[in-house]
Amino acid sequence: MLAKKFLDLTRYAMLPFLLIALGAMTLLARGSAFAHAFPYYDSFFLYLAVIAIERIYSYSRAVSQRHMIWRDLMSTAVQTFLAGAVMSAIVLPVLRYFPNAFLGRRFLFGLSNQLGPLWVQVLAVFLLSTFWEYWMHRFEHYNAFLWKLHGYHHSVTHIQISNVLVSNPFEWALRNILGGLLLSIVGFNPIAIVIAGTLNVYGDFSHCGGDMKGGWLNYFFNTPEVHRWHHAAEFPDDQRFRYGCNFGVGVTFWDIIFGTFYLPQDEKGHAIPPARIGHPGGYADEPNYLKILLGARAFPAVTRLFERRDTLSPVAAE
Ligand SMILES: [Zn+2]
Ligand SMILES: [Zn+2]
Repeated sequence: MLAKKFLDLTRYAMLPFLLIALGAMTLLARGSAFAHAFPYYDSFFLYLAVIAIERIYSYSRAVSQRHMIWRDLMSTAVQTFLAGAVMSAIVLPVLRYFPNAFLGRRFLFGLSNQLGPLWVQVLAVFLLSTFWEYWMHRFEHYNAFLWKLHGYHHSVTHIQISNVLVSNPFEWALRNILGGLLLSIVGFNPIAIVIAGTLNVYGDFSHCGGDMKGGWLNYFFNTPEVHRWHHAAEFPDDQRFRYGCNFGVGVTFWDIIFGTFYLPQDEKGHAIPPARIGHPGGYADEPNYLKILLGARAFPAVTRLFERRDTLSPVAAE
């Protein structure tokens, strides 16, 4: 009985604890030989820790995603190693041109201490980047073309850490990279950026497939309980949610402020999960990563190319 109570309590505490551990580790290892030798060590640690949590706190409504593992790995590799780098290579030279040409320096502000004390900078980076993510994500649901690209993320049938980065790289980078690039020319203190980034780590945690509880954190962070409603196969039956709900990537307070937050509760105050996870338009989960990469749904010519290939393949001809 006591052991069960303890396990239930850790359902609330495990993700916040991991956030603090990740933040402390990143700050301590910053600039160290270890961080240079293993540049993506923090991402690996995060993924392994969340996979372990998913195993311990198994979710009763989980749908097996085992057959999608290669698609998940390909998508994760492209977003991690390529999407951000390509977006930066295209956008940064344009962004850097302006302070360079008009101010004669790399950043809008020469020294980061001109922007105020560290805590003010943490707050500014955190608010500005989460604000960007919220509105860009909301726009991706509203705009028909971007919704076709972003729709690949909504086709998954169970949210878990392996599919947090499943999406077309272009729409993913618009939401998760471009805002940061715009902020990067301001000249904020790099430590402020690390701390604000850690506070936003629920962007990854939101896809923890374990049966985790958010409690009052649901009203600040994009917990798995909140994000499952973003992935509901049927959007809540209300005009406010006709394009979806819970658009915040790492946080929920922008949804609360702008009226798109949705999390129903039972009489005990526990969050009620959606009946089913999936694309509200009925699109099946896409196993072919090449189609996601090329955004086949958004380009009829690419769709036709895949259809021709499918009809020509011997498997389809049998
Ligand atoms: Zn979405
Ligand atoms: Zn998601």
